Amino acid sequence: MIIDCHGHYTTAPEPHNVWREVQKANFKAGGNVDPAYPDISDDEIRESIEKNQLRLIKERGADLTVFSPRASTMAHHVGDEAVSKAWTRRCNDLIKRVVDLFPETFVGVCQLPQSPGVDIAHSIGELERCVNELGFIGCNLNPDPSGGMWNGPPLTDKAWYPFYEKMVELDVPAMVHVSGSCNPNFHATGAHYINADTTAFMQFIQADLFKDFPDLRVIIPHGGGAVPYHWGRYRGLADMLKKPLLRDHVMKNVYFDTCVYHQPGIDLLFRVIDTKNILFGSEMIGAVRGIDPETGNYFDDTKRYVDALPISAEDKAMVFEGNARRVYPRLDKILKAQGR
Ligand SMILES: [Zn+2]
Repeated sequence: MIIDCHGHYTTAPEPHNVWREVQKANFKAGGNVDPAYPDISDDEIRESIEKNQLRLIKERGADLTVFSPRASTMAHHVGDEAVSKAWTRRCNDLIKRVVDLFPETFVGVCQLPQSPGVDIAHSIGELERCVNELGFIGCNLNPDPSGGMWNGPPLTDKAWYPFYEKMVELDVPAMVHVSGSCNPNFHATGAHYINADTTAFMQFIQADLFKDFPDLRVIIPHGGGAVPYHWGRYRGLADMLKKPLLRDHVMKNVYFDTCVYHQPGIDLLFRVIDTKNILFGSEMIGAVRGIDPETGNYFDDTKRYVDALPISAEDKAMVFEGNARRVYPRLDKILKAQGR
């Protein structure tokens, strides 16, 4: 089967977005940051999915999408901790409704109620709720809740450790995923996202996080940012920093997805990175929604690029299914319970 590890609910019904605007306005005015949530019917949710993600999943020939709230609107830098907490719960609850309506097509991954300067331990409760009560299989962890200012500690700092302990205990991975950029130097999806992917990888090289957490699993999206292209630089830096080889130091714990929107990029990813570290992902209806005039296909139709690779059927099965089942053990359990 074909598992897309990277999908966001970018087409959520409008009342959900309106609620967020009301919340932000209330915060500014010093009012209630958790106002009453609108009634959104199952039919509204169904329509928002059937016309969009489900249509494309069928057209492109995938089976299942690991689905999380829209990343660019997590906007952890907006408001304060209470604002982030209330918004995050609404977003995760909406994902749960999608999963319940389409249990064979979507599994949930949660947003976290991060907020700049707030201890990441405050996000543990929502992770537990989403995994234990909503049946989610992972989380999106924002390495820069400030939205482009990078004024918090690096991902390898001990401040993050309580959260990693809980991830290991629950046996869920995190996708390292920033949100919107409030720094005009960094376009959100064109610069901030790719910067963050690259930055996270370098942070992992500099420290010994995976010595402390040998079972921690992290997905760096968007093909690992600039990392595969600059693989020699990172191997060389690891050597200069007197760290072990990257395959032992980082690549037992780090995975890249295939959200790279052209064939040469995917070719390079597979040439440089071991197949066991690559998960199929498309982030469809996300950052780049148009049609590539050079190919006539959607930029984010990444299955085409993987299909075109000259690799064995076994390797393709790993990328499309096997690796995802290994990285998300709770997904494997859900699928087995469904007889898949
Ligand atoms: Zn994403």
